[in-house]
Amino acid sequence: MPLMTGEQYIESLRKLKTKVFVFGERVENFVDHPMIRPSINSVAMTYELAHDPQYEDLMTATSNLTGNKVNRFCHLHQNTGDLIKKVKMQRLLGQKTASCFQRCVGMDAFNSIWSTTYEIDKKHGTHYHENFRKYLEYVQENDLTIDGAMTDPKGDRSLAPSQQEDPDMFVHIVEKREDGIVVRGAKAHQTGSINSHEHLIMPTIAMKEDDKAFAVSFAVPSDAEGVFMIYGRQSCDTRKLEKNADIDLGNKNFGGQEALVVFDDVFIPWDKVFLCEEYEFAGVLVERFAGYHRQSYGGCKVGVGDVLIGAAAVAAEYNGASKASHIKDKLIEMTHLNETLYCCGIACSAEGYPTEAGNYQIDMLLANVCKQNVTRFPYEIGRLAEDIAGGLMVTMPSQADFDSEEIGSYCHKYFKGNGKVSTENRMRILRFIENMCLGSSAVGYRTESMHGAGSPQAQRIMIARQSNIEHKKELAKNIAGIKE
Ligand code: SF4
Ligand code: FE
Repeated sequence: MPLMTGEQYIESLRKLKTKVFVFGERVENFVDHPMIRPSINSVAMTYELAHDPQYEDLMTATSNLTGNKVNRFCHLHQNTGDLIKKVKMQRLLGQKTASCFQRCVGMDAFNSIWSTTYEIDKKHGTHYHENFRKYLEYVQENDLTIDGAMTDPKGDRSLAPSQQEDPDMFVHIVEKREDGIVVRGAKAHQTGSINSHEHLIMPTIAMKEDDKAFAVSFAVPSDAEGVFMIYGRQSCDTRKLEKNADIDLGNKNFGGQEALVVFDDVFIPWDKVFLCEEYEFAGVLVERFAGYHRQSYGGCKVGVGDVLIGAAAVAAEYNGASKASHIKDKLIEMTHLNETLYCCGIACSAEGYPTEAGNYQIDMLLANVCKQNVTRFPYEIGRLAEDIAGGLMVTMPSQADFDSEEIGSYCHKYFKGNGKVSTENRMRILRFIENMCLGSSAVGYRTESMHGAGSPQAQRIMIARQSNIEHKKELAKNIAGIKE
C-alpha cells in the first residue's frame, strides 16, 4: 500500500473498534469526539507532510527491509544521517502542530526492539527477530501508527514487579499456551494510544529472574478483545466541548493525547511475541527505547518552542512593546535555550553508532543530557513567554463576552493594544500562548517535558553511568603530574 494521506489515516481509524472511555462513558465515535479530534489531526500531519515534495527527504525513507519508500516514522535508522533527519522531522512537525504528534513512540519502539530481539535470539536461539521483521514489514507496508508502550502503573515504587501486592501493576504473562500467551496489566500515560492502529508493548524496568513473567514484549491491535483505553483529561479540555469557543481554545486544530490502556487477559499469538521471560534483556530494551525517545525531545519540543517564541514576539508587537530592549533580550534568551536543546538532539544523533542488528543507536550520554535539559528549558521558555505576553493572557474574558451584543464593544475597546491590530487578533495570540503554557498543550510542552521519556532522575542515573569519571580523573592527574 502506498503512503496514506492524512484523510486516509483518519478514515482508517474509523474502521477500528477501539474501546475508548471519556468521562466514565464509552465513546462509540472517538474520531469525531471534540476532545480527541485535535490529537488525531496532529498524527494526520505526519501522513500529510510525507506527500509534500519539499519535505519528502525528511518525512520518508527507503526501507532496508523491502526497498520501498516508507514514512520515516516506520523506518529503521540506517546511519547517523537517518538519526539527524529524524530529529529535523520532529522539529518540523512541532512547528506545524505546536503539540505532540504522537507517532514517535512507535518509531522509537521499532528501533529498540529490532536491535534487542537480534541479541536475544543470538543468546537464546529464539525467533523473536524474525517475528519482528515480519511485523515491521506489515507496519511499513500499511503505513500504520503504532503506540510504543512502555510505562506500567508501577504500584509501590520500592517493590519489584514480582513483589507487588497486585501483580497487575506491571503487564505480565498469565498463561503460556501452545498458540500464544495471555497477558494482563495496563500501560499508563500512553501517548497517542487511541490514535494508534496497534500497540507495541515493552517492559518498563530492568528485571531479575523472579520477575521473568513480567519480561514481555508483544504487538497487539488497538481493538483486540480485552483491550480498552481511558482518556486522560487535560487542563482546559472542556473548552473543546463549548460552542463558539474557537478562540478560547488557543489551538483549535491540534493537540496531544494520553490514555490508560488496559489489557484484561488479552491473547497474543506467538508470532507477535518479541520477548517472553528472557528477563536479562528487559533493561536493555528499556534503556534503548528511553535513549531514542530522549533524542526525540531534542526535535519535537524544539519545534513547539519555535512556535512559542514566535507567538511571544507577535504578542509583544500587539502589546506595542516589541521595541523594548528587555523584550528583545528575552526573545534572544528563549532562542538560545531552544537551540541548545536542538544542539543536543543533533549531537546525540551525529555521534550514533551501529548495533549488532545493523540499525543505528544514538549516543546514550548525549541523549540523556538532551532530555535532562528538556526537563528545564521549556519551563524557562514558557516563563519568558508569559512575561512577554502579560497578565491579560490569564484574565481576559471569554470569546462569548467579546461576541456579546451588550458588552462586546466594551471588551473590544478596553482590550485593544497596538492601534493597528484588532482586539480579536490580540486575543487569539494570547490564548495560543495560554494553550501552550497552561492549557491543553501544556501537557506536552511542560509536564511531558518533565516526565515523558523518563523523569529527570532517570536521566541523572544514566548520565552518572556514562560519564566515565575515572577517565576524567586520569586526565587531570596526568597534566598535574600526579603519579601513583
Ligand atoms: Fe513525539 Fe515528542 Fe510526542 Fe514523544 S513527546 S511522541 S517525541 S511529539
Ligand atoms: Fe513523549
